Amino acid sequence: MMKFDVLTLFPDMFGAVLDDSIIGRARKAGLIEMNFIDIRDFSKNKHRKTDDYPYSGGGGMLMTPQPVYDAYMSVAEGLDYKPHTVYMSPQGSVFNQKTALRLADYDHIVILCGHYEGVDQRVLDMIVDEEISMGDFVLTGGEIPAMAVIDAVSRMVPGVLANEGSYQNESHFNGLLEYPQYTRPEEFMGVKIPEVLISGHHKNIEIWKRQQALLNTLKKRPDMLEKADLTKEDINFLEQFDKKS
Ligand code: SAM
Repeated sequence: MMKFDVLTLFPDMFGAVLDDSIIGRARKAGLIEMNFIDIRDFSKNKHRKTDDYPYSGGGGMLMTPQPVYDAYMSVAEGLDYKPHTVYMSPQGSVFNQKTALRLADYDHIVILCGHYEGVDQRVLDMIVDEEISMGDFVLTGGEIPAMAVIDAVSRMVPGVLANEGSYQNESHFNGLLEYPQYTRPEEFMGVKIPEVLISGHHKNIEIWKRQQALLNTLKKRPDMLEKADLTKEDINFLEQFDKKS
């Protein structure tokens, strides 16, 4: 069982995304536990304030350290280990499938979502183990990135996907994009699915899938091919297209 504790000023945002579908079912089945902890509940300020002006000036407000620290301690206190604590931040390393796989190895992850201009640095230094970014852009809060991380990591928890191995064929798992996929009907508006897929010839289907994955990657993300683990056959196959283009 994997557990996520999310520290946020907006706990109600999460249900719409994580209550339904595959992740919702996994939660109901007890494969993943998620708690959305309202940082505001821990504010010792009489108006439940959780932000204040930055000492450095400039526009905007900063989340104050006390409510964040106490929200974190409500989760971490009394444990005989430190839960792996992630701060969603545009300054973090950019999230990818490898990060998702690595995070899926933890039993317990705490995710801190910042808002406004961010969070007082002192509490980040005290509780955060790593900063993760959704990409080189700035959002209003860490909630959307946190949902993306939870979704991507949860899919790798055993039992969450109906077909255990299905994420291993997907884009980014093996450094390539996935091959194109087809479902019924066999012919749609005069366009047939590739013949090989109904040939029943498993070896040829496997070769076709690998070659299509290579072609897809060459077309859409050629940068990925430089880092991919390619066989001699893969390289020979790709060379034909280099010559044609
Ligand atoms: N002042 C901060 C800076 O320049 O680094 C940006 C703060 S941002 C407006 C508010 C919050 O949104 C951040 O504390 C973070 O939690 C979240 N956030 C914004 N962009 C993000 C991104 N690309 N990835 C992950 N979290 C992000």
